[in-house]
Amino acid sequence: MAKLLEGKIIAQKIKDELKSLVRELKTSPVLASIMVGENPGASAYLKSQSSVAQELGISYQLHRLPCETSQQELIDFILKLNNDPAVNGIMVQIPLPPQIDYLKVCEFILPVKDVEGMHPANMGRIVFGRASSEKISPCVPGPLSGKNRICPCTAEAVMELLSASGTDLYGKEAVVIGHSEIIGKPLAMLLLEKSATVTVCHIATSEAGKLKEHIGAAEVLVVAVGKAGLIPGEWIREGAVVVDVGINCVDGKILGDVEFAAASKRASFITPVPGGVGPLTVAILMRNLVRASCAQQ
Ligand code: NAP
Repeated sequence: MAKLLEGKIIAQKIKDELKSLVRELKTSPVLASIMVGENPGASAYLKSQSSVAQELGISYQLHRLPCETSQQELIDFILKLNNDPAVNGIMVQIPLPPQIDYLKVCEFILPVKDVEGMHPANMGRIVFGRASSEKISPCVPGPLSGKNRICPCTAEAVMELLSASGTDLYGKEAVVIGHSEIIGKPLAMLLLEKSATVTVCHIATSEAGKLKEHIGAAEVLVVAVGKAGLIPGEWIREGAVVVDVGINCVDGKILGDVEFAAASKRASFITPVPGGVGPLTVAILMRNLVRASCAQQ
């Protein structure tokens, strides 16, 4: 039976470290979060951003813009926050209304304030292999590279969970299902940096009927798709470490992408949904903010 890989305990450790780092800063960090239109799906995430910020002594600003905001208006708003010395971190909530391209607007966030790691400069540092999944960096003023890097929160959360499982990724067959810009792509780079042999699967893998074969080879499996029960438990390789990023609401229940009960019988470690990746994401967002604030001191 698999051991549970829970995010809460790791998140608490990160938050404890952050609390003392925040106290050492000259001024408390300020996070500006922008939401365009009504977004009921994001409300749980917003609530947790605000309460974790409060817990850590971080100032949290929520900027609500109307649903009809144009892409240029959002960019102008971001530029204003870029130029505001009181703001240390900027993030844009997704999903956005259809007139706005999320990746496009992220290009306008100053890289040193890009706490979600979505600016091409921060994404590029992952590709350059300058990232590090070591423990929290001592926050020092200076460029956001090496241990001070900022990378997408969910991908980083997966790496923290894998590290907590004690898995040595060197030479391991790691399979990532889903290749989105916010999770699958950066995660593949982070796994590669740890010398795992990385396979990235997506819709075409499924359509070609090859998903089962790849999953059967995975010593480390990360699923980030958003389709409940996409991965049958019996496909999981015996002893695999399974991280399920998916969040799906089915009949009022939150489920992952992996059939949890059956997968638990084969995996060595598995994340629960909810309670696995989710609780870590906000803690890592705040860690990115603290790093960004240190770099701006
Ligand atoms: P996304 O942008 O919709 O990407 C989904 C990915 O899954 C795409 O790369 C897609 O490939 C692939 N895919 C779709 N159907 C597939 C199939 N049948 N077989 C294999 N691959 C398939 O979603 P996302 O933003 O990355 O989020 C993924 C999931 O993670 C969602 O459930 C989301 O709610 C959850 N999430 C969780 C957290 C957390 O903190 N726990 C944070 C963010 C997101 P194509 O592009 O080729 O179609």
